[in-house]
Amino acid sequence: MTYRGRFAPSPTGQLHFGSLVAALGSWLCARHAGGQWLLRMEDIDPPREVPGAAAAMLTALPRFGLLADAPVLWQSQRIAAYDAAFERLRATNQVFPCWCSRSELVAADGMHRDGRCVAAADPARAPAWRLRTPDVTLSFDDALQGPQRQNLRDSAGDFVVRRVEGFYSYQLACVVDDAHQGITEVVRGSDLLESTPRQIWLQRLLGLHTPSYRHLPLVLDAQGHKLSKSTRALPVDPADPLPALRQALAFLQQPAVPAALGVQDLLTHALAHFKPALLPHCSGHSGV
Ligand code: GLU
Repeated sequence: MTYRGRFAPSPTGQLHFGSLVAALGSWLCARHAGGQWLLRMEDIDPPREVPGAAAAMLTALPRFGLLADAPVLWQSQRIAAYDAAFERLRATNQVFPCWCSRSELVAADGMHRDGRCVAAADPARAPAWRLRTPDVTLSFDDALQGPQRQNLRDSAGDFVVRRVEGFYSYQLACVVDDAHQGITEVVRGSDLLESTPRQIWLQRLLGLHTPSYRHLPLVLDAQGHKLSKSTRALPVDPADPLPALRQALAFLQQPAVPAALGVQDLLTHALAHFKPALLPHCSGHSGV
């Protein structure tokens, strides 16, 4: 099978150093394997979306030399596919409607675990839909973080696949689209390591292929906090891509590239000298 990797940002802010690391890491792995690198815009959470962020990211990536092999897949255009997956889960009795309020959930330890909703059904209000998670322990081998095990019921509980507002969850949309795009390896930040067993379970229920996974350490700030789009993100400057690209390569523990190279030559050099075995393993890594 031909290697297919992807970068799948959410348009909740500007491209920052952490997302550049995920983009560059996934690009290097894909190109090194002689495979394809695809882009997916995860724009299915309108309340969290920042107007203009998707367009800004798509303008920024080529400035960093990161060009996708196919047109961008927009999740906002894929609702029919999520509807179909959701109907399949509903037809096989894997999901249940939930009318719990926030306070009822807090009282239940923040999670549902018994495959049903304790709140009274309210036909006047749309429910959230939760997946019935069994008491099953899932294992997978992460190419960077090593063997992983998670009990789905203990760690995730009956997690939401469709929200009260009708939006599909990241977990559902992600597995449907990783399969649709034929992704063979997911390279992303280790903040999503915990989500992976949920995704593997959904893949099994939906009869979808499970890709392999490589979770890169998170980029932490000097205080050891995760850099995220919503907090202390350092946006990278697409008008001056070289310093951030060099820093991202250093974070990925790849050999330094000679000075005075332009973006394309820098990437060509980085790819020619790319060593997956040097990628950092620990789950948090201070890089800035
Ligand atoms: N859209 C997610 C984010 O920006 C990443 C999804 C993924 O790579 O699976 O955090």
